[in-house]
Amino acid sequence: MRALIVVDIQNDFLPGGALAVNEGHLIIPVVNGLMSKFELVVATQDWHPANHQSFASNHSEKEVGEVVDLYGLPQILWPDHCVQHSRGAEFSDDLNTSAFSQVFQKGTDPRVDSYSGFFDNGRKNDTGMADYLKTKKVSHVYVVGLATDYCVKYTALDAVSVGFKTSVVSDATRAVNLQPEDYNTALQDMSKAGVLIVESKDISPLSID
Ligand SMILES: [Zn+2]
Repeated sequence: MRALIVVDIQNDFLPGGALAVNEGHLIIPVVNGLMSKFELVVATQDWHPANHQSFASNHSEKEVGEVVDLYGLPQILWPDHCVQHSRGAEFSDDLNTSAFSQVFQKGTDPRVDSYSGFFDNGRKNDTGMADYLKTKKVSHVYVVGLATDYCVKYTALDAVSVGFKTSVVSDATRAVNLQPEDYNTALQDMSKAGVLIVESKDISPLSID
């Protein structure tokens, strides 16, 4: 069975948000349209405590974009974003959240960031998404959402690593692009790892594989 994984389509990652992804809102109609092609739709939600150590504001004399060592892992410092229970952490009002059978929250441990919807960046904590999908007999996951070069990429790489056939729907993602080539580099990195890069128009209706 196929499942759609909707990554982090939250207000803070959309234009006007704290960590806005350029054109992020343009994927929402594409993602909503894809939902009807899947028997199972799940979502990830970045869900940080206010003292999260990925926030530049929680480090003295550090700026957004600097890289620090966080308990042995390199950590890019971000603006405060997706703080638990804030408006910025909510899913977009335009997103069809009623289709979600389960939401997996990540980034809840202040000591470690979590780009992937499966594991934190140190791969210590598991959100339970892999077990959930396997319990539902999912064999092939399609990953969409924000952002191509971070949470979509690491969710897709982890999906491959735990044994799912994995596709990323390129027109249903947008990148942060700290460097202008990051979108293309992310697609190449995923492709090299075995992720299939597809477009929404090529996804067949329910359910032939
Ligand atoms: Zn975050």
